[in-house]
Amino acid sequence: MPRGPLVLAAVGVLLALTATQVTKRIKENSEPSRFDKAFEVLAPNVWRQGYQWANLGGLVGVDVYTFLIKADGKYILIDAGAPTSDAAEVLLKGLDDVMNGSKLQLIMLTHGHPDHSGALAALVKAYPGAQVVFHEEEAPYLLGHKSYKNLPADSLAYKAFVRVLVSENNFTEAVPASKALLLRGKSGDVADVKGPAGNNAQWLPRQGTLKWQHVPGHAPGQVALIHKPSQSMIPGDAVAHMAAKAGGTPEISLPPAGFTWNNTQARLDALKLASLPFSRAYPSHDLGTGISKAELDAFAASLQA
Ligand SMILES: [Zn+2]
Ligand SMILES: [Zn+2]
Repeated sequence: MPRGPLVLAAVGVLLALTATQVTKRIKENSEPSRFDKAFEVLAPNVWRQGYQWANLGGLVGVDVYTFLIKADGKYILIDAGAPTSDAAEVLLKGLDDVMNGSKLQLIMLTHGHPDHSGALAALVKAYPGAQVVFHEEEAPYLLGHKSYKNLPADSLAYKAFVRVLVSENNFTEAVPASKALLLRGKSGDVADVKGPAGNNAQWLPRQGTLKWQHVPGHAPGQVALIHKPSQSMIPGDAVAHMAAKAGGTPEISLPPAGFTWNNTQARLDALKLASLPFSRAYPSHDLGTGISKAELDAFAASLQA
């Protein structure tokens, strides 16, 4: 056999193996019964709601958390759930129960992947006064129609998953440009968020409430958030806390290579997060109830070993 076809065959087998492994891992981590659909209190003024997104025709379940923060009597949603009408319904019902007639003021997105931005259209419709906050480097995917598929990814797994399996319009949900507010630079305070030109913030949490850190390895504009009053970190997908096999204990890991465009940067992001002040971090994909500062420190040390 000439060399070219041999290499192609090897790549094909590798792609199939990677796909099977990641699918298996996601499936093993899926336990639909563990979510009761209500928001759960994590700390004073911090809640989360879990949802299982059954996608790829029900073959694969992705468990994902959405977070809610209350500041000065106003509500901030962090991430917008999975892209199904059921997810939107569950999220709106959960919000109604916690907010008791209040409206959402801000919707913040850690990044634009569909398990984090899916119910955005339904939320914007239900809360027409809410503005949507995300990092400027996520804007091409959320405001424009650029696809995550075309990023210069550093892993074969990403090329297999996002480029081959994910359809063109399935990996992003566009935000109405008139409602967008952008985080700019490497880190800051959500109190300082600005337009694009023409969009003024109607309300922002006061200085010292919500800090953000750019962690672009998993998605170019991904941010981690720290709620200062409770020292709670919401790292998005910068770290995961899932079990290696069904029934196993949750372990901290870097985000899956199949959905992470820059794995070298993702490793640096995890080290950066471990260096920040917080007491407990709540990843979006979490089989437990978050991870302590000491646990993230130990994970960071293991990455450097
Ligand atoms: Zn993601
Ligand atoms: Zn995710």
